[in-house]
Amino acid sequence: NLRETAAYLDAEPVTLDGVRAEVRLNVAAANDFELSGAAHADGCGLFRTEFLYLEGDRLPGEEEQYQIYKRVLLAFGEKPVVLRTLDVGGDKQLACLELPHESNPFLGVRGLRLCLAHEALLRTQVRAALRASVHGSLRVMLPMVGALDEVRAAKAIFREEGEALSAAGIPWNPSMPVGIMVEVPSIALIADLAADEVDFVSVGTNDLCQYLTASDRMNPSVKPYHQDYHPAMFRALGYIARSFQAAGKPVSVCGELGGDPLAIPALLGLGIQKLSMSRASLAGAKRVIRSIRMEDAQALAQRVQSLKTEGEIKACLTEFARAHK
Ligand code: PEP
Ligand code: MG
Repeated sequence: NLRETAAYLDAEPVTLDGVRAEVRLNVAAANDFELSGAAHADGCGLFRTEFLYLEGDRLPGEEEQYQIYKRVLLAFGEKPVVLRTLDVGGDKQLACLELPHESNPFLGVRGLRLCLAHEALLRTQVRAALRASVHGSLRVMLPMVGALDEVRAAKAIFREEGEALSAAGIPWNPSMPVGIMVEVPSIALIADLAADEVDFVSVGTNDLCQYLTASDRMNPSVKPYHQDYHPAMFRALGYIARSFQAAGKPVSVCGELGGDPLAIPALLGLGIQKLSMSRASLAGAKRVIRSIRMEDAQALAQRVQSLKTEGEIKACLTEFARAHK
């Protein structure tokens, strides 16, 4: 069965009734192995840049970052690459930046919050990304957004750094899209307002589940509470998808749920046709997409949104998967 699935690695992710989904790769380093996955994917839906900051004992410089971003863009050619700005804090600590102890780090200065508190760090990353934007189809995505003030503050920095590059005669792409991750419930609940202010959205289902269910994604004792198929997850996903569709802006999922063969039919049915996942999930995702019809996926999504518990949803998704082998 594993070997059977592997045969789908280079198949087109198109449904039985001809809807072309997009299956993208999550990338967490710029080495040859990670980048060789580019050949099997419709771009990179999540380029995690933490590795640049977690290794050495100093912050990565602009030129170093620029060269690495350029390498990733060149590996993906014309295909889109969604670069996520630094997302540390929480469980990920920086060796090169002394940060105050927090008793609730996952609710503390994490992701975009940390970048806005250490603005020079963000500005360096933004300049490197803007410079790299001429080498491919780059989009930049902000993690851990909770409110639109944060988005506006970050976008002001993008604007200022872009103007500074122009003034210095350095080329960059002024139409590079800037989007957000939705992984904090407060922004999920105002997805309609967020859709007016950003160019795209990608749902980080790992953190969204952690914050919606108030259960640490790393703590095995609360695993029964960390329910990836919680009805609230599908409500949130449905609301985010409808809000961004209404604004005519792209919606994707880049958390684990996006590469989960059980969840994929329901995601497609909710209108989320861009999925980003680890390399190990690519073939299985394509196989599932090729085995379903959109009409059935939509009916499934409807049904899932009416169910009351994770157990009911899991049973429903499992039944669908069995029937559409
Ligand atoms: C997520 O939270 O779902 C996500 C994709 O980001 P990370 O796993 O890096 O926090
Ligand atoms: Mg996250």
